[in-house]
Amino acid sequence: MLNKIILPLFCCLLTACATSPTGRSQFISMPDSQLNQMGLQAFDNLKKEKTQSTSTQYTRFVNCIAEAITYETGGNWEVVVFSDDSLNAFALPGNKIGVHAGLIKLVENQHQLAAVIGHEVGHVLARHSNERLSQKTALKTGVTLITAVSSPTSTLGQVAVSSLGIGAQYGIILPFSRIHESEADIIGLDLMAKAGFDPRQSINLWQKMAQAGNKQQPAEFMSTHPSHDTRIKELSEHIPKAMKYYQQAQSIGKIPNCTK
Ligand SMILES: [Zn+2]
Repeated sequence: MLNKIILPLFCCLLTACATSPTGRSQFISMPDSQLNQMGLQAFDNLKKEKTQSTSTQYTRFVNCIAEAITYETGGNWEVVVFSDDSLNAFALPGNKIGVHAGLIKLVENQHQLAAVIGHEVGHVLARHSNERLSQKTALKTGVTLITAVSSPTSTLGQVAVSSLGIGAQYGIILPFSRIHESEADIIGLDLMAKAGFDPRQSINLWQKMAQAGNKQQPAEFMSTHPSHDTRIKELSEHIPKAMKYYQQAQSIGKIPNCTK
């Protein structure tokens, strides 16, 4: 019993260890406040560089879903719809969510978009950007990294934007690791179900994404989020547990009705 307490404490003295929401040990060496500032800076840049959608229909649809999902996580989240036809969405440390119009056009219903937003928020909750950056830039100072976000063509800038998961916006394709993907999938599935969205629709979503990715132009999101088959298999295994959350949500009146 004592060992169970002392051993993790001892490990933490030697390395900057942390535990993810799924119970996985992580090496985290950067302060979260710094990651939040990087996320904020990156989001500001994207808002300046990209055109925001003027469709009130799309904005209402995305906000309705994001509000239901982030109600489960707490905190204030900023959500922006970009008028970009590529299939992409992202979430950044500092509670920022971006959704491309192309993805809104692709989804058939609220549940499918909730699956993507849940997955992206899952990356943030599990501090994946911090973990990736901790592995790569142990010696870089915070100020340098925050500045680097603003110059995505520099070497450090590439590390910064790709660690934040928005490399594709700048033509840098760096896939998330399989571990991070699986973890974001599981966290996302539970989140969407707790918010009252049907977790089974996540399978339909990823199948649709895979189909879209097989056409001439590879889907932006799929090029940074590989292995649909493994993903669908793992999601299927986790659906029975998520269905329990979904049923609980319904029984307490969490029945979102977001339409596009
Ligand atoms: Zn992902």
